[in-house]
Amino acid sequence: MSNRVRSLWSDRDARTAVKRYAKQGANEDLALRTYTTRLLGGEPRLVQHGGGNTSVKTTVKDATGTSIEVLCVKGSGWDMATIEPPGLPAVRLAPLLRLATLKSLSDEDMVALQRGNLIDPNAPTPSVETLLHAFIPRKFIDHTHANAVLALCDRANGVELCRKVYGGRVAVVPYVMPGFDLAIACKTVFDANPKVEGLVLHKHGIFSFGATAREAYGRMIALVSRAERYIARERGRRVETAKIPKRLASATDIAPIIRGLLALPLDRNEGRYTRFVLDHRAGDDVLAYVNGRDLARYSQRGPVTPDHVIRTKPKPFILPAPDVGELETFAKAARKAIEKYENNYRRYFARHNAKARPKKKPLDPAPRVVLVPGVGLFGVGTSAKDAAIAADVAETCIEVTAAAERGGGFESLTDRQQFDMEYWSLEQAKLAGRKDKTLQGQIAIVTGGAGTIGAAIGTALRAQGAEVALLDLHADKVTTAAKKIGGLGVACDVTDRKSIDAAFAKVVGAYGGLDILVSNAGAAWQGRIGSVSDDILRKSFELNFFAHQNAAQAAVRIMRMQGTGGSLLFNVSKQAVNPGPDFGPYGLPKAATLALMRQYAVDYGDEGITSNAVNADRIRSGLLTDDFVRSRAKARGVSEHDYMAGNLLGREVRAEDVADAFVVLALARKSTGAVLTVDGGNIAAAMR
Ligand code: ZN
Repeated sequence: MSNRVRSLWSDRDARTAVKRYAKQGANEDLALRTYTTRLLGGEPRLVQHGGGNTSVKTTVKDATGTSIEVLCVKGSGWDMATIEPPGLPAVRLAPLLRLATLKSLSDEDMVALQRGNLIDPNAPTPSVETLLHAFIPRKFIDHTHANAVLALCDRANGVELCRKVYGGRVAVVPYVMPGFDLAIACKTVFDANPKVEGLVLHKHGIFSFGATAREAYGRMIALVSRAERYIARERGRRVETAKIPKRLASATDIAPIIRGLLALPLDRNEGRYTRFVLDHRAGDDVLAYVNGRDLARYSQRGPVTPDHVIRTKPKPFILPAPDVGELETFAKAARKAIEKYENNYRRYFARHNAKARPKKKPLDPAPRVVLVPGVGLFGVGTSAKDAAIAADVAETCIEVTAAAERGGGFESLTDRQQFDMEYWSLEQAKLAGRKDKTLQGQIAIVTGGAGTIGAAIGTALRAQGAEVALLDLHADKVTTAAKKIGGLGVACDVTDRKSIDAAFAKVVGAYGGLDILVSNAGAAWQGRIGSVSDDILRKSFELNFFAHQNAAQAAVRIMRMQGTGGSLLFNVSKQAVNPGPDFGPYGLPKAATLALMRQYAVDYGDEGITSNAVNADRIRSGLLTDDFVRSRAKARGVSEHDYMAGNLLGREVRAEDVADAFVVLALARKSTGAVLTVDGGNIAAAMR
C-alpha cells in the first residue's frame, strides 16, 4: 500500500459548506456532517460504493417550533462521496435509545421503528447501522471499511493484533452481523471503555467518534494511518508465483468464452438468457494476486468486509491460465469449472437455507468475480455499471487479502456468516427495486453511430438496457455521440478489415462480448448505370456491401465463441427492392446486402443467430439533408412536410422510427431472414 490516506480538512471549505447548506435549511451540525462525510466518501481506501456511514446528533424544530433531539444518519441509496444534507435523514433519538433495553429486535421491526421516527416521512430509509450510531453517546460518528484496518483485523489473531496496534485508543468488538445485535455488542464494549476514540469491528471495519466533525474525521484518518504504517512495516512471506504459459491468450481472446459460460439460460426454446457484462482489470497488484501459486487457497476464503458479499458473491470463480494456441482446451476446462462452481454455490445455499428461518429464495449461481492467472480479473454484472462495482470491490479485496497474507494469513467470515449476510433481507433490499429491461446485459455495436440514424439506434438500444458501442469514422464525433447515451465511442473505418477487427476488440475489451450488431453505416452514390464510373460503383460496394460483410463476420466470430446466439441487423434500403432512377450505384450493393442478410440467416440459424434487415425510406439525416429536402419539395411544388410524408400513411418517418424497428428485430426471437419496412407505406417497395 504505497498511497496513504491523509486529512483533507480545510477550514475554508468547512465554512463554505456551512454557508452553502444553510441555504438548503441545514444547521451547522448537519452541514459539517455532510462536508466530512464527502471527504471520507471521496477516498476509496476508506469506503466504496455505498459502504460506510456517518451520523450526527443534533436538534431540529418541528412545525410548532418545538426542538427535537435527532440523529441525522446516512440514508440508504446515497453515496458518501456525493452526499447532500437530504442524504442524512433526521430520526427522533429518544425512541431509538429506548430500544437499547430490548433483548432482541427483528430486522422488520427495526426498520419499521426507524422509518416511523423519521422527521420527514418521505426521507430515505436510515442506514442498517443506525442503532449503533444512536447507542454510542458521541456527537459525531464516522464509520468506514478502511482497507488498512481490514488488513489488520481480517486475520485469525485480528482482535489481539488490533489491541496491540491501537493500545487503549480503540476498543475491539468481536464479529457480529450488522443489525440490532451488533449495535448492542458495540454499546456494551463502548460502555466498558468510554474513553476510546473509536471501535474496531473484527472482520468488518472501524468507527471513530468526536465532539466535532473535525475531531471524528481527524481521528478516523489518524487511526487508519496507524494501521497503514503497521502494515507497511510487516515483511512476511512472499507470494510464490504459479507456472504461467509463455504464450498467453489476451483478455479479449477469452472474454467471450467466459461470457458465454456465465450466461444463465432462462428459456432455451426462446433463446433467452440472463447475460452478463464483464469489466477486465489487470493492474500489477491484480496480476501478482492471480498469478500466486496459492490462489485457490487465499482467494476462496470470503469477503474482506460483510457488505461486499452482495457485490462479489462469497467466492470468486477461478479459471486456468489460457494458452493462446489452446483456446479450445481452455474453453473445455472452463465449462467444467463453471459447472463445479455453480453446483458448489447451490450446495452452499441448500446447506445454510436448511437452518434459515424464514426460508430464503436462492439467488442466481453465477459468479460476480472471475480470476484468470496471467490475464487478471473480470468483474461481472448485468450492466457495465454493476460489473465495474464488482471489479472495484474485487480490487479492494485483493489489496486487503494480499496485505493480510503478507502479515500472517488472511481470514474471512465463516461460511455461515457469509450466507447470513448475503441473504440478509436488509442487504438484498439495497439491490431490490431494480427491474431488468428487455435488453439488460446485452452488448450492441452500431456502425455509422455518429450519424442521425445511428445515434437514434444507439439511444433506443440503451433505453432497453443494452450496453452500446457506437462506431464511426470520426473519432471526435463518435466520442461525443457515445457520451450522450452513456456508451462507448470507437473510431472505425468499416471498409477496412483491420480497423473493424481493432474496433470490435475494443468493444470486447470494454464489455466482454457482443450480442447485437446493427450494421448501419452507409452513403448514397448516384449515377446512370450505363455510364457511371467503375470507381464510384466499387466505392459504393465497399461501404454499402463489403463493410456489412466485414462487420457481420467479426460479429459472428464473437457470437459463436459465446454460444448464446445473437442478432445481426442490417440497414438496407428501399433501393434494394424498388430501384430509383440514377440510384444504381447505391441500390445494387444494398440489394447484395439484402441477400447477405438472408445468407447469414441460412448459415447461422442453427446457432441461434438471427439475421434481419430494416428497409427505411425518406428520413432526414446525413444522406437526406434539410437543404436537399427543401429543394426537392420546391421542385415538386409541395410543402416540405407533404414531400416528406408522401407515403400511404401520410406521415413523415423519423430516425427514431427506424431505431424502434431495429429494437423490435433485436427482441424478435422467432424471426430471421426478415425485412421490416419503415417508410410510411410504399407499395412499390413492399417485399414480395
Ligand atoms: Zn459497516
